[in-house]
Amino acid sequence: MVETQYDVIVVGGGVGGVCGALAAARSRVRVLLVEAAPAVGGTGVFSSVSLICDFRDDDGRPINNGIHRELFPEAYLRVNPRMVPTYDEQALRARYEQLLAAEPTLTVWTGTRVAEVRIDDGRVEALRLEGDHEGWISASAYLDATADGNLAQMAGADFWLGREQDGLLQSATATFKVSGFDPELLIDPRVETWDAIFSLRRELLPYYRELKDKGLTSNPREDVTCFPYPGGKSLLFNSTSVLGVDPTRPETVRAGLEEGEKQARELFAAITRHPAFADATLDFISPKLGVREGRRIVGDYELTGEDCLSCRRFDDMIAAGGYDVDVHNPEGGKSRLTRIPSPGYYHIPLRSLIPRGLLNVVLSSRCISGSYEAHASYRVMSSISGVGEAAGVTAALMHVGGFGDVREVDAAAVRYVLQMRGQFVEGRVEPVELPVI
Ligand SMILES: Cc1cc2nc3c(=O)[nH]c(=O)nc-3n(C[C@H](O)[C@H](O)[C@H](O)COP(=O)(O)OP(=O)(O)OC[C@H]3O[C@@H](n4cnc5c(N)ncnc54)[C@H](O)[C@@H]3O)c2cc1C
Repeated sequence: MVETQYDVIVVGGGVGGVCGALAAARSRVRVLLVEAAPAVGGTGVFSSVSLICDFRDDDGRPINNGIHRELFPEAYLRVNPRMVPTYDEQALRARYEQLLAAEPTLTVWTGTRVAEVRIDDGRVEALRLEGDHEGWISASAYLDATADGNLAQMAGADFWLGREQDGLLQSATATFKVSGFDPELLIDPRVETWDAIFSLRRELLPYYRELKDKGLTSNPREDVTCFPYPGGKSLLFNSTSVLGVDPTRPETVRAGLEEGEKQARELFAAITRHPAFADATLDFISPKLGVREGRRIVGDYELTGEDCLSCRRFDDMIAAGGYDVDVHNPEGGKSRLTRIPSPGYYHIPLRSLIPRGLLNVVLSSRCISGSYEAHASYRVMSSISGVGEAAGVTAALMHVGGFGDVREVDAAAVRYVLQMRGQFVEGRVEPVELPVI
C-alpha cells in the first residue's frame, strides 16, 4: 500500500540530488528528497574533495552557470587564473541546507534509504523506505541521484561497472585536512596560488618518496597531491590511493576506508618531517571514503570519451561538461589527464539521463549513461550539478505535462526553463508553462 504521494521523488542527496531537488521544487511541484546518510551532502561534503573543477569555456564564459553558481558564488567573482579555486566542505553543506530549506514545496528525509522498488512494465510505481522513515512512497517521476545508479538498478536497468575491457574501477581516496603549517618556511608561501601549490607538492615529494623507498606505505601513488582551503590556512590532501573498491560491494568500501586511513596517517607522518609542517595537525580524515565511480546506467544514448574530446554538440543538450578526462589508474600507476580541447566543453544530451527500458526515471548524478572515459570527465561537481538541475526540470515537466513517458518531455522545453533560470544552454528553446519558472 502506498502511504505518501509526491510529484517528484529524488533519491540521493549529493550535488546531483540537491540540484535536482531544487530545480524540481522551484517549479512548485511537490518534491521529496530521500538521503540514506544522516545529512545531505554526499561525496562533495563527506569525502571532502576541495577543487571547484572547470566550469568555464576557453573564453572564460561559464558553461555550468545555474545552481552551481549559487553553490560557489565566490568562484564566479574570482577572475585570477593563478588562484586555486577551492571550497570548504562545511560551507557547502551549510549552503545546501540553506537552499533546500528555502523551498516551500520540498521535503527532505535524511537517514532514510530506498531499499526496494515496485515496478510495472517499465514504470516505477513505488519505493520502499527503510530507516528514519519507513513504508511505501510514490510519485509521477523519480530521480536517481544515488551516484551508483542504485534506484535504476533496483528497477531493472542495465549498467556498466568499471572499464569496458576488464571491469576495473578508478582508485578510491581517503582525503585528509591539515592545518597549523608555517607557510613562511615554504619556498613559495602563497599556497592559494597554483604556482605555490605545485611548488609545495614538489617540496613534500622527497619525504613521501623516502617513505615509499623504505616500504613504509602501501600507497601506490607516485606523487603528492594537495589543495589549499579558501584562506590558505589549511590544506586538503587528495593523495591516498586504494585499489579494488567497488561501491556495489560494501565490504570493499569498508576495507578501503581502513586502508585509506592507514595511508593518510603514513603520509601525514612523513610530511611533518618538513620544517614547515613540524607543528601541523591532522584535523580529520574524511569519514566517507572517496569512491570515484560506480554503476553507469545504460541509457538511450551513451556519451563516449570521443564525444567529450571532440567537443560534440547534441540537439537534445541539457547540460555541458568542461573538465578534463581524469583517469585515476585502477592499477595504481600514474593518473591520466586529457584536456577537453578548444572551445573547452561538450554537450550532455537528455537521452543520457534516461535509463533504457524505464518510463519515469531520470538519472541525476554521476550514474548517467556514458563510457568509462566519458565518466572520468563528467563525474565532477560542476557537470553533475548541471545534470542534476536538468534532471529536476525534466521530472517537473513530466509531472506538469501529465506524461506517461519521460521521453515525451522536449529537450528544448527543458532548455527554456534552464535558460530562464540563468543556466547555460545551447540550441533551440521551446517556451513552456510551469507554475514558477
Ligand atoms: C577522492 C575524490 C576526489 C574528487 N575530487 C573532486 C574535485 O576536486 N572536484 C570535483 O568537482 N569533483 C571531485 N570528485 C568527484 C565528485 O565529488 C563526485 O563525483 C560528485 O560529488 C558525485 O556527486 P553525486 O551527486 O553524483 O553523488 P554523491 O555525492 O556520491 O551522492 C549520492 C548520494 O546518494 C545516497 N544514496 C545512495 N543510495 C541511496 C539509497 N538507496 N537511498 C537513499 N540515498 C542513497 C548516498 O548516501 C549519497 O549521499 C572527487 C571524487 C572523489 C571520490
